[in-house]
Amino acid sequence: METTVNTVVDADKCIGCGLCIKVCPYETLSMVDGKARVTGATSLNCGHCAAVCPVEAIRVVSLQDLATKTFAMEHTWLAHGKGDASRLVQLMASRRSCRNFLGRPVAKDILEDLVTIGTMAPSGSNSQEWTFTILPDRAQMEALGRHIVAFFRRINRLAGIAPLRTALSLFGQKGLKNYYERYYTRIEQRLKDWETSGKDVLFHGAPALILVGSTAQASCPQEDALLATQNILLAAHSMGLGSCLIGFAVEAVRRDARIARALGLATGERIHAAIALGWPDERYATTAPRKKITPRYPDLTGR
Ligand code: SF4
Repeated sequence: METTVNTVVDADKCIGCGLCIKVCPYETLSMVDGKARVTGATSLNCGHCAAVCPVEAIRVVSLQDLATKTFAMEHTWLAHGKGDASRLVQLMASRRSCRNFLGRPVAKDILEDLVTIGTMAPSGSNSQEWTFTILPDRAQMEALGRHIVAFFRRINRLAGIAPLRTALSLFGQKGLKNYYERYYTRIEQRLKDWETSGKDVLFHGAPALILVGSTAQASCPQEDALLATQNILLAAHSMGLGSCLIGFAVEAVRRDARIARALGLATGERIHAAIALGWPDERYATTAPRKKITPRYPDLTGR
């Protein structure tokens, strides 16, 4: 984790309010002669200090204000309780997996805005060690699709060999047997559909894809990437786009080094989500019902 101090205080501007010291999680700053000063040897580089300062006396030089290209982003802090919870929940409940897309392409600026919005997510130790790979058009999607189909064709060929499944199971490797029982038939059918009808059974005809991953340095790789993913899904809906998570693509990219190489993934980089995106060709009348969940209230006091 990167903990180099990148904080700079402008002593001329500082009015000594102490707000930056209160919010600093690493004790990077302290008050010296009535002014904030960098005295710590490490920093989380979270930017709390710069965001809280009322006179813009602090900068974290490794960070920058991000801007979106397709709409104006508001940088004023929305205070606790000032968001519209009802609209937020409506957005969350309205975003659904989309499997019907119009052929229209998605502009690169929109895809890049979605990546920017993904990076607004929290990350473990503020590491922000996620990666985003954009496939911006059908030609790229179809090329990836061919790689993925080839991967599953190989897996299904192996899984279809009963003695191999049995032998591996006997040695405690039940992966192929489990795969056979859960996926073999469905994937066999999809491979046939892909070959005979030319139907895009993988990405549902979506014109773009964002792969969300993590670098080898991420402290909470999967959590961070999935938080960024949820940001992208919600933002995409609010921007008029349909989205669908493609689990088979994640599996293939993770397991097939050829695909990882073709995508230009770095050593140690891991993909956690594949988001198919496009202009939706479907509408809903209401939000969908959900399973009712009953939370647990454990008594840990021992009373
Ligand atoms: Fe100085 Fe700004 Fe820190 Fe207040 S928040 S002590 S003004 S640097």
